[in-house]
Amino acid sequence: MAGNREIVALVCTKCKSQNYVTTRNKVNMEEKLVLKKWCKFCKKITDHKESTKLK
Ligand SMILES: [Zn+2]
Repeated sequence: MAGNREIVALVCTKCKSQNYVTTRNKVNMEEKLVLKKWCKFCKKITDHKESTKLK
């Protein structure tokens, strides 16, 4: 269902940089999304946590 998807930022948990933007389904909002992603500032793969605050 379009309209149930929300744009969220993925923020590096090490340096707090907002490196990615993704969408997620608002229906499944119980858990915070954490993904392992490449951070160009840390120059390694770090945990990226979702943040609804887009910069
Ligand atoms: Zn980082």
